[in-house]
Amino acid sequence: MSDNDRLYRFLIENSHVRGELVHLNATWQAVLERADYPDTVKNMLGEALAACALLAATIKFSGSLILQIRGDGPLHLLVVQTTSEGSMRAIARWNGQVPEQGLHDIFGQGQMVITIEPIDGEPYQGIIALEGEHLKDALEAYFTQSEQLNTRLWLAADNKSCGGFLLQELPNNKDDDFSWEHFNHLADTLRDEEILQLPAQDILHRLFHEEDIRLFDPEPMCFRCSCSKERISSMLLSLGSDEVHDILEEQGKIKVDCEFCNAHYEFDRIDVDALFAPTIGSSTATKH
Ligand SMILES: [Zn+2]
Repeated sequence: MSDNDRLYRFLIENSHVRGELVHLNATWQAVLERADYPDTVKNMLGEALAACALLAATIKFSGSLILQIRGDGPLHLLVVQTTSEGSMRAIARWNGQVPEQGLHDIFGQGQMVITIEPIDGEPYQGIIALEGEHLKDALEAYFTQSEQLNTRLWLAADNKSCGGFLLQELPNNKDDDFSWEHFNHLADTLRDEEILQLPAQDILHRLFHEEDIRLFDPEPMCFRCSCSKERISSMLLSLGSDEVHDILEEQGKIKVDCEFCNAHYEFDRIDVDALFAPTIGSSTATKH
């Protein structure tokens, strides 16, 4: 299992098709440790985690990419975030019994929101209605709509790992539909167990042994939460002194739990007073 928590990119030489493979193991276990998800939710979250890694690898950006699904059904919120450095986090929120299949039965009336937050620059958001039978259907529709590139995904998740495979047709002037269709047919033979268990080289050999494949060095993926006391402090600052002091009066302390990693942050009166104290000579104030 040398492919744990790695993302691979590849090119099919002499064609206009590129692809990616991802296999997440420890990253997925770290997500599962933080909540007791029912099977359907677990499956959907695992597929979304793999999809988010694949999606981020198709675009050049520096910052974070958030895949969010909101609906009015039993599984009403699913959020997966990945950074351009390969750190990931994910959560889902559900109520009661979640049906085993059918995107619409699971999420109800929903939408998928994909947000790219560059380190420098304005965030970009793409929103599409949640349609189709599987998560991959909605994602493929997103690609067609926003990137205008033919893209296909194959996703799988179980209790141990989650993974995905992606093919994308690059813009080209030639009528290259034949190879695109051909490679799709081959990839359609991929089984979930293969996505979850086979090393990247074996999958590529199994599917495309007649082709010349350029496989790039893998990129490591890991679970890491971007929460910190500084981030919570700036969130409290944005609420304003009055509101924060009201909570303090009511509860004695400000307690914030990170929903992604369960980290617990506490602010007592001294912390809050320090936070809202006027800074003297702000130009020399130290920055964390
Ligand atoms: Zn956190």
